[in-house]
Amino acid sequence: MAQNTPMMNQYLEIKAQHQDAFLFFRLGDFYEMFFEDAKLAAQELEITLTGRGQGEDRIPMCGVPYHSADQYMSRLIEKGYKVALCEQVEDPKQAKGVVKREVVKLLTPGTMMNGNVIKEKENNYLVALSYFEDKTYGLARTDLTTGECAATLIVDLEDVIHDIASSGTKELVVATDLDQSVLKRIQEKHPLTISYEDVTELAYDYIHLCDNLHSDKLQLSFARLLQYLVRTQKRSLNHLQKVTVYQSDSFMKMDTHTKRNLELTESLREKKKAGSLLSIVDQTVTAMGGRLVKNWIERPLIDQTAIEKRLEQVTSFLNAYFEREELRDELRQVYDLERLAGRIAYGSVNARELVQLKRSLEKVPLLKEQIRKMAPESVGRWFGQEEHVQELIDLLNRSLVEDPPISVTEGGMIRPGFHDELDTYRDASKNGKQWIAELEQKERLETGVKSLKIGFNKVFGYYIEVTRANLHLLPEGRYERKQTLTNAERYITPELKDKEALILEAEEKMEQLEYDLFVNVREEAKSYLEQIQALAHSISEIDVLAGFATVSEQLHYVKPTFSTKREIAIIDGRHPVVETVIEKGQYVANDVLMNQGREMLLITGPNMAGKSTYMRQLALLAVMAQIGCYVPATSAELPIFDQVFTRIGAADDLASGQSTFMVEMLETKYALTKATQNSLILLDEIGRGTSTYDGMALAQAIIEYIHNTVRAKTLFSTHYHELTQLDKSLEDLKNVHVSAVEENGNVVFLHKVVDGQADRSYGIYVAELAELPLQVTQRAETLLKQFEESTASVRGPLIQPPQAEQQLSLFIEDEHPKKSEEKQPSVSITGQEEKVLKKLVKKDVLHMTPIEAIQFINELQRLLK
Ligand code: ADP
Ligand code: MG
Repeated sequence: MAQNTPMMNQYLEIKAQHQDAFLFFRLGDFYEMFFEDAKLAAQELEITLTGRGQGEDRIPMCGVPYHSADQYMSRLIEKGYKVALCEQVEDPKQAKGVVKREVVKLLTPGTMMNGNVIKEKENNYLVALSYFEDKTYGLARTDLTTGECAATLIVDLEDVIHDIASSGTKELVVATDLDQSVLKRIQEKHPLTISYEDVTELAYDYIHLCDNLHSDKLQLSFARLLQYLVRTQKRSLNHLQKVTVYQSDSFMKMDTHTKRNLELTESLREKKKAGSLLSIVDQTVTAMGGRLVKNWIERPLIDQTAIEKRLEQVTSFLNAYFEREELRDELRQVYDLERLAGRIAYGSVNARELVQLKRSLEKVPLLKEQIRKMAPESVGRWFGQEEHVQELIDLLNRSLVEDPPISVTEGGMIRPGFHDELDTYRDASKNGKQWIAELEQKERLETGVKSLKIGFNKVFGYYIEVTRANLHLLPEGRYERKQTLTNAERYITPELKDKEALILEAEEKMEQLEYDLFVNVREEAKSYLEQIQALAHSISEIDVLAGFATVSEQLHYVKPTFSTKREIAIIDGRHPVVETVIEKGQYVANDVLMNQGREMLLITGPNMAGKSTYMRQLALLAVMAQIGCYVPATSAELPIFDQVFTRIGAADDLASGQSTFMVEMLETKYALTKATQNSLILLDEIGRGTSTYDGMALAQAIIEYIHNTVRAKTLFSTHYHELTQLDKSLEDLKNVHVSAVEENGNVVFLHKVVDGQADRSYGIYVAELAELPLQVTQRAETLLKQFEESTASVRGPLIQPPQAEQQLSLFIEDEHPKKSEEKQPSVSITGQEEKVLKKLVKKDVLHMTPIEAIQFINELQRLLK
């Protein structure tokens, strides 16, 4: 194999240090990629793969022009990759041998400051995860675009995964020796970019951020995060805020499945905001508020005082329509202060953005005044820093013009009167231009050429232009010829060139000086970061709460109250999303009453009757109440739930693409083992993913387990009517059903949930509605009748709780099955089946784990095959 060129050696050396990133290697006007990088990039970016060298030694290569590199990098980052940007760090003309090159920036999904990856109304979190010997995990997170930093300690890996997934983390930083199986489990639930950092010493410059971190573990977790940022970002991190410590159990816990099923922030099928709870309660008018409300929905509170404080503020806003609308009008003109603060710290803010900052800060006294009118008790909580920022406003007012350009290098930013020297240059340039304008007039008069004009271009500078037709009017030798065009000649004079030199020099100095002055202003702004961030935080809260008030008023929500006795009493509750998508006024409101004796509701009713809607409605009302929003009902009393679980029978969960029964059971296990008495469990047609008897047996076992052991508030919907008999043996379980009536042989869903069990499944009527051939539905009717008659005596739950074993009707060894065998072949039972049934009856299901239940059922199935 031929020797590598020196440049290739340089490439390989740098690449070796950045193996997990695409190395964008600067070569002249291109960034080139080689080897595997090139192959993958060509595929991902749909660019042409070429090669360098000949024959066997040919190296795969592809490249992107440097001026459009941003867009390519951003596409790679969006896909979860990293990019190491390698620049030429010396002038190629000066270089001896290979030009020196260095990686100047590492771009990763969790450290981006702008581009497509950054969504206006979403946080962009980077999380560092550390594992300690005492089996706890430390999590430290930051959103680099806003400077927010937080840390927590968590014991259980499942909770770690939920924390990472629920905040939509983009990138995870871990030690190289972290157990790979941990990473694998996280990736299964929430695919993200992984990065490594082993240094966990706290950089001295940032010690002040750690005031709230009272444990070594928290400090170490944050140090890992910080070290990674320092190493990869190579620039100021001044805008990072003091790390706040949060307890993952100070929020209502919801796992990824639950959040998805409840469609909290995106719809199940389309993965869009439309159709989610967020789309209803997010009435914010600023980007910061948009991010905050999403965070709140992901993490409802469980501290009653904190919830009630939010609710009171919503009430204050609700009671003051005009002030609130005025407030929201003002808020609309407030820019994204959080992200502006981030860009100030990074030194990437431009003059136009600083003017936006100024205008936003100028709104603060007005906002404060509006709050004073509506919620005087909250003024102190939200304001207090604005006197300090007045100095910044003054500075920005004095220094910057009202409408500066985006570019910071071409002048036009600094206000006249701010800096004497700049004004002098400006005068010089202005006077010079004036002189030239006068010269044009003078020459026209003196030569009599009315069309004579003075122009400017970058190559020749200022020139006098006379058209060919008028050349004869010029006295010989009046000007010096400079350039000949088809229809005109261009001239100069020594005087003109003198003036030109003055003007150009002034302009060049002006641009440089303006840039320097601007940078000073930008630096000065850095000392106000903390105040800006505090205001940003207040403003986003105000925005979210004013939004809650707005939606609560428009959709007639009511303030929830909290029960200390674990009672639910919702009168005329509505599903916040469904009520807005169906025809106005068509939504059928429903009560939910759950207290002692009604800890569990077993919901039956025909397909499409509204069972799932009713269940989700309860969970959504709980979430809304605990984020501090009013709820859609005429009155609502709820306990504060520590956790909410939703599980959907596999057959229903088509959207997730993993509709296996095993997943259904694993998820159910999770709910059963994690839920407490203060949790809410929604089980929607659990047991559907398997055959009828299997499913029914499991459903019953699960219900009994929750009823006797977990004791969480539970809604269980089922199409197994047999289960409705359970209310006889389980004292805290009650039947409710969604009513439907028959009208002229058609079924009409009333969507009304009432006590008692549904009398039949209506499946055939739905089939009729769907216009299945008459022959099919009529035959089904006949079969149903026959089946009902034959099983009339064996209706009831499959398995009675142990104490009632003697009453078993279906599986005991008497002649009953044989009798029906003679009469109705449809329920005949073979010897082997009988054996299986006996095994099933003997089993003590109440003392099995769900996994044991699955294994057991599996065994039974095997016996039957
Ligand atoms: P089920 O789970 O019983 O099959 P769903 O809860 O999925 O039924 O509801 C089916 C449809 O019925 C919903 O998409 C909705 O349009 C409508 N619906 C449900 N509940 C109500 C209600 N309370 N008022 C009006 N329409 C409802
Ligand atoms: Mg349903």
